[in-house]
Amino acid sequence: MLRFAFFSLLLVLMIGLLGCRLPGGGPSGTNILLISIDTLRPDHLGCYGYHRDTSPAIDSLAAAGVRWERCQAQSPWTLPSHATMWTGLSAAAHKTSWYDDAMHMVDPSLPTIATVLHDEGYRNIAFTNVWYLNGNYGFDIDFDHFDWHQNGNGRAGITIEKVAKYLEDNIGNPRPFFMVIHLYDVHAPYAPPQPYDTLFTNQGVGPDSVVWWDVTSEGILRNRDQLDRFVGLYDGEIRWVDDQLAFLFSEMRRLDLDENTVIFLTSDHGEEFLEHEGWGHGHTLYQELLHVPMIVSGPGVPSGVVDSTVVGLYDIFPTVTGLLGYQTPDNVEGSNMLDSLDLTERAVPAGAVSPDRYTLDKKGLQTLEPRDMAAVMIGARKVIWDVLADSMYMYRLDRDPSETEALEPDSVLAEAVMYYKATPPQCRPDPVVSDENKQMLEDLGYI
Ligand SMILES: [Zn+2]
Repeated sequence: MLRFAFFSLLLVLMIGLLGCRLPGGGPSGTNILLISIDTLRPDHLGCYGYHRDTSPAIDSLAAAGVRWERCQAQSPWTLPSHATMWTGLSAAAHKTSWYDDAMHMVDPSLPTIATVLHDEGYRNIAFTNVWYLNGNYGFDIDFDHFDWHQNGNGRAGITIEKVAKYLEDNIGNPRPFFMVIHLYDVHAPYAPPQPYDTLFTNQGVGPDSVVWWDVTSEGILRNRDQLDRFVGLYDGEIRWVDDQLAFLFSEMRRLDLDENTVIFLTSDHGEEFLEHEGWGHGHTLYQELLHVPMIVSGPGVPSGVVDSTVVGLYDIFPTVTGLLGYQTPDNVEGSNMLDSLDLTERAVPAGAVSPDRYTLDKKGLQTLEPRDMAAVMIGARKVIWDVLADSMYMYRLDRDPSETEALEPDSVLAEAVMYYKATPPQCRPDPVVSDENKQMLEDLGYI
């Protein structure tokens, strides 16, 4: 443990010495496109074995590149998971989450994919569709163009059209691009447009098929018979998004961008469909929430490879820099997924559980339930530590993929999850001040 503590201290010192920026260099000419499809479970995609035809475009992308069978999100909800994609850090290290009664932003001192590529001469562009992924939360630093919509559910078609227009308008630009596309349609409410609403369920969208916090009470679905219908609508959303991506990929081929663009496709977390009596996401660290798709395809990437190594969202950053031949900042915790490193015994962590699991008191009032959980996966073994409940359980995912048999954790896993919880943060991000609060504080003379 001492060795770990010393290593962490060394990392923190190195961040300060580096000033969080790397020296600039010439662009390699390869574009990077990162597609984050919010709330997308890999086991609902054809290339991951799903029985429904939800994802022909994503399946084609996977067939042309590398697909990782076991990618872990570092958190089960949107804000910390995207901060992990940006920074290459676990949730404990970047501390972008909810705590001390406030949301906390991405700390501007942390290097991100955007800061490194900006210094290398890249054009950084983002199209995002959820409240968190904006400038208030620090996600726009070193982006040249940041197109944000605070609730972009249902906007995949509009977003992809904007992306296609941007690509066409900038086809002669000599600077390579780093582009992030975040799509929010698969997230609840499950309301795909026609004809996707009845592709996988004949019941379609109704007034009761809204969001999971309306269909649950005390964490239990009111009518369990609704499950098939909701899953059918969720699958319809996936196919709707996949068809938009099919259009994007065809446009990229038309513009010859497929020859010099590496595409990363992933998600920030999964979705619970009552596997452990829960619905939605954010509240636990089971695999229905942490298992996410990970596909990389393009020039310099092997084709038709399926990799069973456990990787994480924090590996995207060093994989991008590795592909482009740039130096990865020393503070980054992830590894280059395409390198020949032996990652089989690596402990891949997750934490930062959302506090928004409501409990009803005797008067029927809802209160936020504090949560403090961490998980670590090493190969097929996984440990989940519920700190407040004082419980730590191990699961053998090779013979119990549904995590139904809670075992005593072995000492390696127990030490790994305790080490993760004890990891000092690399920064102390500011709480997010909303525009309304900011105006109020300004009026009061505080800022
Ligand atoms: Zn999300």
